[in-house]
Amino acid sequence: MDISVVVPLFNEAESLPELEAWIERVMNENSLSYEILFINDGSTDNSWAVIEELAAKNPCVHGVCFARNYGKSPALNTGFQRAKGDVVITMDADLQDSPDEIPELYRMIHEEGYDLVSGWKKKRYDPLSKTIPTKLFNATARKVSGIKNLHDFNCGLKAYRNEVVKHIEVYGDMHRYIPYLAKNAGYTRIGEKVVHHQARKYGKTKFGLDRFVNGYLDLGTLWFQSKFGIKPMHLFGLLGSLMFAIGFLAVLVILVLKIVALCSDSYAFYVTNSIYFYLSLAAMIIGTQFFLTGFIGELITRNSAERNSYQIRTEF
Ligand code: UDP
Ligand code: MG
Repeated sequence: MDISVVVPLFNEAESLPELEAWIERVMNENSLSYEILFINDGSTDNSWAVIEELAAKNPCVHGVCFARNYGKSPALNTGFQRAKGDVVITMDADLQDSPDEIPELYRMIHEEGYDLVSGWKKKRYDPLSKTIPTKLFNATARKVSGIKNLHDFNCGLKAYRNEVVKHIEVYGDMHRYIPYLAKNAGYTRIGEKVVHHQARKYGKTKFGLDRFVNGYLDLGTLWFQSKFGIKPMHLFGLLGSLMFAIGFLAVLVILVLKIVALCSDSYAFYVTNSIYFYLSLAAMIIGTQFFLTGFIGELITRNSAERNSYQIRTEF
């Protein structure tokens, strides 16, 4: 099979027939064999009934129905596990992404050898409240992930070589950083294609402004995991040592001040009156906490099943 199209959806009943017909037309025009995997993420409208109808008409349509709303990442991950096509395409169900892009995305993976091609909604049809923070978000993601050629990390329209989706685990809200997950899994041929974007035709967006707060927190988590995931002490040990150094210096300063004060005939102050006393106390306590966090992190890492699993490209 050439292509699996994975579509996560939450209350998108109106868009589905149009989307399915459009994908079917594009696939037939380009003689591509395909499957469409609709992952119904606990919709409360009649999305699932619509999917059942579509599947009755077209044997290429498959559906998975979650018992409740888990989120876009769990839906994508479920689709990834089931995808059988050589190339896996993800797209949103709301008709904002155009199925006309599929053949070219397929060609880029199939012929140009990319592991992952991400869509770039160069001209967006979203409100300003979304497009401006998105620019900032993408700039940060580029910097932190080191994937410098991507302008639009969170574009719903992406294409992957099948192998890639089987080796990444999308959970929580990590769908925003799939290129970063792929890079961490060793898939570094990451490309980009400018794609058409349309205003939402039916329904409304499922993500509010909290997406930006959560997005930054997740980026921090991913950065930590990729840098220190299996050696947490390298970060916490460094911070702890830094704190101890500061604490030690502060103690030295107090000592010197005290000796100088004792040797001169000026009034010998109480060390508890010196700000350096409190500085050293705070630094030592925080330093100890960093070390303990590091040790606990190391213990957890030692027990993780993933600690010694590496992705091997070839061997003979
Ligand atoms: N979606 C989902 N589960 C959720 C939220 C969203 O499967 O909990 C789907 C949604 O139906 C759509 C896609 O994820 O197909 C992108 O969502 P949306 O269009 O609301 O995001 P936006 O375009 O505003 O970024
Ligand atoms: Mg949308």
